Amino acid sequence: EDAVHPKARFVRGDIRDRAKVSALVREHGVTGVVHFAAKIQVGESMVKPRMYFQDNLVATLALLETLLDEGVGAFILSSTAAVYGDPEYTPIDEAHPKKPVNTYGESKLFIEHALRRYHDAYGLKYAALRYFNASGADPAAGLGERHDPETHLIPLVLDAAAGLRKDIGVFGDDWETRDGTCERDYIHVLDLADAHLAALGHLEAGGGSGAYNLGTGRGTTVSEIIASVERVSGRPVPVVVRPRRDGDPAVLVASAKKALDTFGWQAKRTSLDEIVGDAWAFHQRAR
Ligand code: UDP
Repeated sequence: EDAVHPKARFVRGDIRDRAKVSALVREHGVTGVVHFAAKIQVGESMVKPRMYFQDNLVATLALLETLLDEGVGAFILSSTAAVYGDPEYTPIDEAHPKKPVNTYGESKLFIEHALRRYHDAYGLKYAALRYFNASGADPAAGLGERHDPETHLIPLVLDAAAGLRKDIGVFGDDWETRDGTCERDYIHVLDLADAHLAALGHLEAGGGSGAYNLGTGRGTTVSEIIASVERVSGRPVPVVVRPRRDGDPAVLVASAKKALDTFGWQAKRTSLDEIVGDAWAFHQRAR
């Protein structure tokens, strides 16, 4: 709640509460919805699939019931690169086969299927935005990553730089990548935010619906992240090599051409040190 902009109205509720959501839609004359709320931990999704299908899939279908009944015409979904599963080629474009290897990705893919059917049958306009590795922060606004428990690479490396943990465990250094560590496409959260506005504007202007990758097209390895944190913070980061993590592919990099071609969006904050620098600035304030 404290992360909500002071000029925005915060309402605590359950998106499955149809009466409450209907009342809000009517009160504010809502014409478009950007839906972020979800469970997002891959490991947890494998041991608690009921929770992931209930909170992600079932809850979103309930929300869509209300929105369709109320005539809300535009819907933006926070989707994920996890819909693709193990990459068959890279960079991954939107036509890549969708074979999620975890319940998290599957729960989002099911929602995408529903959106496509609702579009075809009821004219719902939608954009499913498949985030790659969300990162960075908006230190000026006091916003950044606050997961509990924290499992994501950049915040953990920052903790190690700040002396809040003794080291960072690197999940494997014998991958087939340029330095042996996993390669990911880290995208600044402010670029993600811009993409949502661009996609919504596109739908409101009568543009077509679909699914879009949100990434930079550039891969960064775990070792390169650690080196960037050391540069930005000016502090050494002790590294320990650990076994590979279940379900990690070697390389996950987006082709983000479709979003550029369709609604003119591309990542602007592509310097790794800017992404890590913003995360570090937020981290320094938050601790
Ligand atoms: N990673 C790592 N050590 C950690 C956390 C993550 O080596 O303590 C690696 C992980 O194997 C992956 C990359 O960092 O290659 C990004 O992982 P993260 O959990 O941040 O995001 P994901 O790619 O799972 O969405």
